[in-house]
Formats: sequence, C-alpha cells, structure tokens
Amino acid sequence: MLEKSLRWIRPVIKNIKAYHVPDASGLIKLDAMENPYQLSAVLKTELQNKLSQAALNRYPDPSAITLRNKLKQVMQVPVDKEIVLGNGSDELIQMLAMAVASHDDDVCLMSFEPGFVMYKMIADFVDIDYVGVSLREDFSLDMDSIRQAIKQYRPAIIFIAYPNNPSANCYNESQIEEIISIAPGMVVLDEAYHPFAQTSFMHRLTDFENLLVMRTVSKMGLAGLRLGLLCGHPAIINEIDKIRLPYNINVLTQVSAEFVLDNLVCLDDQARLIRDEREQLFSAMSANTELQVFPSQANFILFRVLNKSADDIFNSIKSSGVLIKNMRANQGLLKNCLRVTVGTAEENKAFMLALTDAMNK
Ligand SMILES: *Cc1c(COP(=O)(O)O)cnc(C)c1O
Repeated sequence: MLEKSLRWIRPVIKNIKAYHVPDASGLIKLDAMENPYQLSAVLKTELQNKLSQAALNRYPDPSAITLRNKLKQVMQVPVDKEIVLGNGSDELIQMLAMAVASHDDDVCLMSFEPGFVMYKMIADFVDIDYVGVSLREDFSLDMDSIRQAIKQYRPAIIFIAYPNNPSANCYNESQIEEIISIAPGMVVLDEAYHPFAQTSFMHRLTDFENLLVMRTVSKMGLAGLRLGLLCGHPAIINEIDKIRLPYNINVLTQVSAEFVLDNLVCLDDQARLIRDEREQLFSAMSANTELQVFPSQANFILFRVLNKSADDIFNSIKSSGVLIKNMRANQGLLKNCLRVTVGTAEENKAFMLALTDAMNK
C-alpha cells in the first residue's frame, strides 16, 4: 500500500540526501555560522514586552510593510528599488527558482562550486537543471569557464554568494560586473555574510537592472527568526512577490525584527567583535605550518589539514567538546578541508586548544 504513494515521488527527490544537521548538545557549536552572542538582558526584557502584546490570534500583516520599510532603510536599499521578504533567504531562493521553472528543458540555474548547497538542492526540488561551474584552486572565479558555460547553458539565474560559503572569500568585483553584463538572465548576489565583509553590490542595483541582492538577518545574529530579503527592480520583485505564500513572515518574527532593527548598534557591535576575533583566530591558525588556512571575509574560516586526515582531526576536536564542520572531501578543491565558525573569545580559545591537541597526536 505504501508503494501507492511512494511511486509518485520523483526519482530526483528520492535521490536527495536529506540536509543533515548534526546533534550539537553538550558541544561548543562552531559549525553553522551562527553569531555566538545574544541580545543584552535589557533588550531581551524590552523585546519580551513587545512580544507579549503581539496579536497571536490575528494573521500577520501580509506585506509586512513596517518591517519592509525598516529593512530598506537599514540595509541601504536604493530608493527606487523594491524588496520582498522570505522565511529565511532559503525561501527566497525557492521563490526565484519557482518563478523560472518550466517544462522547457532549457531553463537552468547556475552557480560556482564549491558553493552554497541550497542552490542545487532547490533546483532539484522544483525540477530544473543546475549547472555548477568549478572555481579555481584558490577559490577565485574561472572566467574562461564561466563565459563558456553562460554561452552554452544560458542560465535563467546565476547565484553568486558574496562572500562565498564555504571558502569565505569575496570574488573580484570587476569579474562579477562582467558576469552581470553577459548574463542572459538574472544575477543574484547572495550577501548573507555582509556584516563581516563590509563590501556590497547593493548600491550597484542602480547600474544593473538584472541584478538582485539578497540579504538575511541569520548570520548577523537572528538565525532563529528566519528572515531574508531580496532587493531589486520593482518589476522583478513584483513578479517574485506573486509566488510568496501569504503571511510567510509570522507575527513574532515581524515584531522581533522590527525591535532589533531599532536597536541595531547592538548587532553592529557584535559583528565588529566577530571580525576582530576572526583576525586573531586566523593568525593563530596560520601559525601552524601543517594547516593551509584560507583568508576570510565572513564569520568562518576554511582550512585544509596537510599530511594528516581531516576526519581524524575533526573527530579529535569533537571529542574535546567542539563541533566544527567537516567538508568530507577526499578530492577536489575542498580536499581534506574543515570549516570553523568564529565564536566568542573563549570558544575560539577552546577550539584552538582542541585543534593543537589534535594536530599533535
Ligand atoms: C547561511 C546562508 C544562507 C541562508 O540564509 P537563511 O536566511 O538562514 O536561509 C544563504 N546563503 C548563504 C551563502 C549562506 O551561507
């Protein structure tokens, strides 16, 4: 009887390995690019008051107009551009993919690899092709391959994570400009790590009508809220907005995000702390000649273990009580690589101790 149901599930879905989130209980959690800091006690109390007044019996404002206006201002969206909100930027990627998905065989999404895995996963969800163009060994853009792939596949949307995840670098700006210019469709600059990169294409929306800029509040310290935004030409945003499910941004998220955006200095201060900690962690790790540590403009650091097994190092660090991310690659650009999120000073110290211990085994 079960077969009656399962036979309808598309093979591409059956083949997807479910996105695995490891159990972090009891461990220092440096695996998911979360901001390690919480709001101050004073802000928490104020927020609690706001939340207790929220009308949970009512549907939320379907267009979240107050929140949208605040985000436009805080994120410095050019005045003649529009934004649409998603339940996390993952939902925005899904809306974009749904907007272009069709039964024509020639619609595809493109991105660069190694990159953010959701672009490909969502292409599979909506049943369109995905083309991943390999980066160069130093994780820079391979412009010859990219020009060739754009010509050959004519992607409806090109996703560019800026900075990239998992490599943590920002690509060359003029190369991105060239990609936006030669693309036959939309180009989405995914600026999830903007608070740590301090460089952006937001102001370039004025120069390119096919450019969209995506941001999220997740990495800046509000991952629990699930809130992302997509910015661009009003005519494009208007089409994407038609796909958005009504009320996708719930009341608690709207109230909380509005409140935190009114108190943004606190997140700005946290981002500055994280950037400082990143530089210290980078120096400490780089001092070990048995590691190849990649420069970071994000809140995490990718590194390669030389002459030892990354699996062994990962497991040893974990048994010392620190969870990082194992890229699990035996070959390719991420061969023997691990990724650590920048935490608090104490967390980073615990990680460095665990790493040094692991490397000395
Ligand atoms: C973490 C991440 C996101 C996901 O953001 P959410 O708003 O939490 O869905 C998007 N893009 C990149 C490149 C990321 O690393």
